[in-house]
Amino acid sequence: MSDYTYLIIGGGMAADAAARGIREIDADGRIGILSADMDPPYARPALSKKLWTDPDFSWPDQVDLHTADDTGADIRLQTVVTAIDRDAHVVATAGSDRFGYEKLLIATGGRPRSLPGLEPSDRVIAYRSAHDYRRVRELAAAHATIAVVGGGYIGSEMASALAQNNAQVTFITPTERVGAQMFPRDLAEAFHQHFVDAGVDVRAGRRVVDASEGAEDVTLTLDDGTTVRAAAVVVGFGIDPIDDLAAAAGLAVDDGVIVDDRLRTADPDIFAAGDIAHYPDMLLGERRVEHVDNAQHQGRQAGRNLAGANEPYAYTPMYYSDVFDMGYEAVGRLDASLETVEDWADPTKQGVVYYLDDGVVCGVLLWNVWDKTDNARQVIAEANALTADDLPGTIPFD
Ligand SMILES: Cc1cc2nc3c(=O)[nH]c(=O)nc-3n(C[C@H](O)[C@H](O)[C@H](O)COP(=O)(O)OP(=O)(O)OC[C@H]3O[C@@H](n4cnc5c(N)ncnc54)[C@H](O)[C@@H]3O)c2cc1C
Repeated sequence: MSDYTYLIIGGGMAADAAARGIREIDADGRIGILSADMDPPYARPALSKKLWTDPDFSWPDQVDLHTADDTGADIRLQTVVTAIDRDAHVVATAGSDRFGYEKLLIATGGRPRSLPGLEPSDRVIAYRSAHDYRRVRELAAAHATIAVVGGGYIGSEMASALAQNNAQVTFITPTERVGAQMFPRDLAEAFHQHFVDAGVDVRAGRRVVDASEGAEDVTLTLDDGTTVRAAAVVVGFGIDPIDDLAAAAGLAVDDGVIVDDRLRTADPDIFAAGDIAHYPDMLLGERRVEHVDNAQHQGRQAGRNLAGANEPYAYTPMYYSDVFDMGYEAVGRLDASLETVEDWADPTKQGVVYYLDDGVVCGVLLWNVWDKTDNARQVIAEANALTADDLPGTIPFD
């Protein structure tokens, strides 16, 4: 059995940041990372953006995080942890190995949902990993017909990426306009039009009701009775947090592993960070965040706390997306069913949208407006003192 001072379950971006956070405090403690993935930690957002759109963007220089080189962590790939024995301070793996720890971090992220009734396969890709990227890339290179299902950011980024890389794309999205669940009406209209203009066959307002996989393709039946045949389906249906390990170990779980402001579970030797962590955000309250800025900041803070820093996680993360030539950053909730105040420099091209819940700002969308996430956090922090009329002009466009 190998023993580690610090053991991290999961080999994603939170794990990488945690190993770096540990090293800020403790130069010598043994760090172990047990990862189900076949690749060492990498920058996941590149899988649906720069790797498709920037020919100079390279895996070794810009995607691989070089965690082992930079931190000395011992990374074991294709190693699935199956149980945590809290009393013995040991974890067990599917390969019947056992690893001891003094402090443990759970950073298992999420399991992507697939199409109901169809298991992920070589043609049904619940898009999440570098392995998925390599497979879809291979299909796009062969000019394949690819169906993208799901109207969230993975679906919209992948439909955009594939359309820019020779694939014939059918994009099936449940809202009447792509992005309509997040953006105000005119912005969603403009966003949607970009897909149409790029030659994407957008099936808006449609859901998949049946799916079957053959030897050469996948057939999807939509709720209007039409069918779509494609060489492969990229599924962007979101993720379920992988919190079953923690639950089986008797830790509190509620849509993720519950941690306090130190990112610590009720067990003082076990912490959680990244997509898996359900934590108290200083500005926005209890939440779980599935975004890279959180994985990096929270992972780092968890690492520092594993090594004894005992500091609160006081950062409210931002998130971002890039689709065709459009891009945005955001803080808080983007939900089109909320009241919105729009402040445009140029309508649907550059501006700020404020989202209000019961008259109080709870989210800010910065559309083609850059480096203003601190301003957005400040607006949310001072939201109780602001009325809708105060908002236009509060955040400058450049
Ligand atoms: C294609 C794509 C594009 C994205 N783009 C953006 C973006 O533009 N902006 C943004 O803000 N966010 C984006 N995200 C989200 C962002 O990448 C995630 O929030 C972030 O990577 C989460 O990091 P994590 O370490 O918490 O989880 P993950 O990166 O999911 O890592 C979890 C790790 O745990 C491992 N694991 C799981 N279970 C076990 C187990 N039992 N034993 C051992 N290992 C296990 C997994 O194999 C994986 O290595 C994107 C995500 C994807 C998939």
